[in-house]
Amino acid sequence: MSAAVRLLTLGGTIFMTEETADGHARPDDLAGARLVASARYGVSVSTHPLANVSSSDVRPHHLRSALELAREAVDAGAQGAVLTHGTDTLEESAFLLDRYWDREAPLVLTGAMRPASAPGADGPANLRDAVRTAVAPSARGLGVLVVFDAQVHLADQVSKASSRSVSAFSSFPAGPLALVHEHDVQLLHRPLPRRARLPGAPMDRLPSVPVLTAGLDEDLGLLDHLPPHELAGLVIAGVGMGHVSPAAMPRLRRLLAGGTPVVVATRIGAGGTSTHHYAYPGSEVDLLEAGAVMAGLLPPAKARLLLQALLADGSTPERIREEFAAYAS
Ligand code: ASP
Repeated sequence: MSAAVRLLTLGGTIFMTEETADGHARPDDLAGARLVASARYGVSVSTHPLANVSSSDVRPHHLRSALELAREAVDAGAQGAVLTHGTDTLEESAFLLDRYWDREAPLVLTGAMRPASAPGADGPANLRDAVRTAVAPSARGLGVLVVFDAQVHLADQVSKASSRSVSAFSSFPAGPLALVHEHDVQLLHRPLPRRARLPGAPMDRLPSVPVLTAGLDEDLGLLDHLPPHELAGLVIAGVGMGHVSPAAMPRLRRLLAGGTPVVVATRIGAGGTSTHHYAYPGSEVDLLEAGAVMAGLLPPAKARLLLQALLADGSTPERIREEFAAYAS
């Protein structure tokens, strides 16, 4: 009989300990194995270690394996799957996985802010809550979820909001989706239908889509030095509602005229981009007229992943526009 939950481990601070010599946290396989073995889940869990790496070392092939193993587990009868991950890019992996996750069972990502050796380590509680969420009846059909500090977040909305606090994640614009309880999760609002679904799994190498940040007098001159193969598409972390300096517009126009998709997000944490507030040079109206796509509520990092995944799927400009329109604000 298959276990209720398949636990896939990829690493992160949850699987790290601080060395006594220098006090720095590093991946520790033994501590990870101990944590997994000692956790009181309340249901049967089978573990599959994928890797023990920090967020910065996670590659699309790790996520591809996680996706395939999670699918395999739920198809064999597991109620859900859990993936441990570093917190730095956890929201990005959750977002990318959610594009492809096509099962009713939840796929839940979690991690920890404090290493396993630290006083008040948050890994054990997050792991237990992630497993509870993976078997929670109310979590079914909600796609990829992030569980942290007793809260459940949707992959589309979650982001790391503190680089230090154990309550590291928040969700914009709707707040956390649910609270974790012993036998189910308590939904705090009704989520919108899931969006931007893609077949298969992420390819091992995603198309190159740099993110450039707009700012005071920033003319995006770096674009003159990027070879075309490094520029399958471009994401701008714009100022305000998604604006750039007028001095950047000729470069963006050139890219767009040559068929390179340009998506404009905002560097601001809340509010998203607009399509209709301003019409000065470098504004959203100017950018839209030039052929750019506004990212709406998607922050730059997720806009990049969506554009990469759509390009990898051979999407037309119309499809790219449509998929981003689902996040319009
Ligand atoms: N730097 C760590 C990582 O992302 C942070 C963490 O896991 O909390 O792997």
